[in-house]
This record gives sequence, C-alpha cells and structure tokens, in this order.
Amino acid sequence: MRVLIAEDDQVIAEGLLRALRNAGYSVDQVGSGTEADAALASHEFDLLILDLGLPKLHGLEVLRKLRGRGSSLPVLVLTAADSVEQRVKGLDLGADDYMAKPFSLQELEARVRALTRRGLGTAATVIKHGPLTFDATGRVAYLNEQMIELSAREISLLEVLLQRAGRLVSKDQLVERLCEWGDEVSNNAIEVYIHRLRKKIEQGPVRIATVRGLGYCLEKVAA
Ligand code: CA
Repeated sequence: MRVLIAEDDQVIAEGLLRALRNAGYSVDQVGSGTEADAALASHEFDLLILDLGLPKLHGLEVLRKLRGRGSSLPVLVLTAADSVEQRVKGLDLGADDYMAKPFSLQELEARVRALTRRGLGTAATVIKHGPLTFDATGRVAYLNEQMIELSAREISLLEVLLQRAGRLVSKDQLVERLCEWGDEVSNNAIEVYIHRLRKKIEQGPVRIATVRGLGYCLEKVAA
C-alpha cells in the first residue's frame, strides 16, 4: 500500500510519515501543490492525504486536476478546524473523507485503513487464500492459524500478492508498490524479499510461483 502525503507543515508531515510507516505503509511526502500534482500524474498510489493549504498550488486545485484526469484514487483531505466552506468544496470536488486539524493519529490510521480498503473495491479487513490469512487491521498474517513473523516489507509484499492471488504480479508492480522515493529497492531486492517470504509461507499448500521474466503469482498447490 503506497500513500502520498501532500503537507507543507513539516511537524504534521513527519508525524504522519512515522505513524503510517509503523503501520506498514510505503509513504512518500511532498510539500507543495505543484509537487503533489506532478507526483500524482507520474506515479501510482493507493491513497492521497491532501492538506488543502498548500503553497504554489492550492489543495483544491490538486484535487480538481486529479479528478480531471479521471483518477478514482481515494483522497483524505486535511483542513484547518474552522474551514467548513473548504471542507464542503473538497467533498464536492471528489474527496472521499476529511479530517480537521488537529486530529488524532489513531483516528487518521483507522480512516486510512477504511479508504485503502474501499480503493480495492472491498470492505473486507481480512483476506484469505488457502491456509493464508491476512488481517489488514493489525497488519498481521497467519499460516494455518499460526501468526507468521514478517518484516514490514515482507508483510506489504504478501498483502499485494494476496490481493491479486492467482494472478500475475510483475516485479515492477511490486517495486512500485513497496518502494519509497530515494529507497534503493531494485528488482534484485524484490527477489530477496520473495525468497524470505517463501521460506516463511511455503510449508503449507501455497506457493509463490516465478513467472520467468514477468513476475510472481501466489498459487494454491494441488493436493
Ligand atoms: Ca498547509
């Protein structure tokens, strides 16, 4: 799950970055409306957290341009406490939810979970595939009801594979979903994560098949 934070207040942005990274999301941050617009036009995200009071290009303009490109990306708008008018404008322009500052990080995380689920077209918090279960609320995975010890990267990788179980996921898609800008995560690193993940989950009747030159596919193994 990849989240873009467009927020120019560095204290708020860092709090958000820390909280969402701890919760296992890949997070990028930009500090102006023009940067937000450029990032949204050229990268794939699962959620946008958008401060409306951004320099260079107002948050409402960022949102208008995003929807103008036909994007249905879930958007959580952050507004000053007293700006009811802006909140209404934001919702009219296609924001999915809003939070007034100051907000509790706990509540924000809950809304982020709800919005990213909605973006996948499912309200389910638990994904099951054969003996594997992924619980998006606690970001934990189980194999045959036993919790699997996974790093934040491994759990994000498993989440992507589970969301597309039985279908091909390309290495580029994995890199795009898992990496944050500036991170040196190459296709080779993805291979290493896949290797570690295999060791942890392939005791059961499930495997991560390599589709040579194309990517990976999470499969059930016929009994
Ligand atoms: Ca601001």
